Amino acid sequence: MTENVEEAVEHRRLIIAGTGIAGLTAAIYAGRSNNEPLVLEGDEPGGQLTLTTEVDNYPGFPEGISGPELVNNMKEQAQRFGAELDHGIVVDVTPLGEVDGTDGSPFRVEMRDGDVYTCDAFIAASGASARTLGVPGEDELMGYGLSTCATCDGAFFRGEDMLVVGGGDAAMEEANFLTKFADTVYIAHRRDEFRAEDYWIDRIMDKVDDGDVEILWNTELTEIHGDPDEGIDHASLVRHPDGHPKEKFEAGDDSVETFEMDVGAVFYAIGHTPNTDYLDDTGVELDDEGYIITEGGRGGGQTATGVPGLFGAGDVVDHHYQQAVTAAGMGSEAALDADDWLEQRERAGELGVDAAPEPAAGDD
Ligand code: NAP
Repeated sequence: MTENVEEAVEHRRLIIAGTGIAGLTAAIYAGRSNNEPLVLEGDEPGGQLTLTTEVDNYPGFPEGISGPELVNNMKEQAQRFGAELDHGIVVDVTPLGEVDGTDGSPFRVEMRDGDVYTCDAFIAASGASARTLGVPGEDELMGYGLSTCATCDGAFFRGEDMLVVGGGDAAMEEANFLTKFADTVYIAHRRDEFRAEDYWIDRIMDKVDDGDVEILWNTELTEIHGDPDEGIDHASLVRHPDGHPKEKFEAGDDSVETFEMDVGAVFYAIGHTPNTDYLDDTGVELDDEGYIITEGGRGGGQTATGVPGLFGAGDVVDHHYQQAVTAAGMGSEAALDADDWLEQRERAGELGVDAAPEPAAGDD
């Protein structure tokens, strides 16, 4: 059963949200399967790799490749196979149909500019966005000395002392990159052990030996001081030998040390939150952190969600590996799963084209 969608500007067989590695790989595969995907770029065109300098662990590039170059190559490859890439941010997806008693395909896809599409299948590959801490000074200084992207903004603070917050691969990579510009890079980590892979830890420890990096173990940032005209003046931090000092400080533990540091820039590298808000009306199952729950398992259909016709791939699903190459793998799986699903529905004569004012050529 489908509703009519009078305001729809166009009906597509397949829409992919996201032009990061997952979305673009899905687009390459979907294009090659003649599903003529419309690929919508979202808030961060090209995804997180566009914020990276060298990608050294993507197979096939023995000398490494820059993030933006890898993304651009993938875009061109997707377009070669008929994918259409468009600007635009999806704000809402709503199931219009019902498949075997469950709300699902076709979907109404609403864009921020008010445009509306309908589609038979939808791949959510909208990635994840940088987390923030919510400390005082953050909102005012974001973009004025505070950044979530060292590769984008590091060069603006040449010669300054810089503070990186976090203890994962991203924090190590950012701190390493910032040594090109900084006087000293300080890494504040809330525990006494990094979670980053050994490769990165070794590189950072070399920089510590060289005097370019100093590690503030068991330390957390509590406030950033400055103003948008002058930038960051200094930061307030807390430290406790048992780690997680902020919660101890907030609980009134007076053994927590408080101190100030003069830094000219602060970079957050504390992980990401999946971009799934636009799926609220689909009924798709999300975990506590907002990651899409897909079928998984060993056979086909691993990227399917519980909503018929809706698939998920990349950092919007993967809360563990989060590598460019795993995102690419999942993107290909989602395109293959979507293709199987579309073919099955088509064979059964059950593609929901009724919902569309202008059915795409080939749909019946
Ligand atoms: P991550 O691995 O989740 O690490 C986040 C770090 O931030 C952790 O050290 C965490 O501390 C800290 N943190 C989180 N919330 C915090 C808070 N509220 N206050 C203070 N510290 C906080 O995230 P990521 O570094 O962005 O990496 C994400 C994924 O991308 C990983 O799979 C990583 O391997 C991958 N990645 C790979 C590369 C590469 O070169 N291969 C580069 C970048 C990212 P705890 O350790 O105490 O939890």
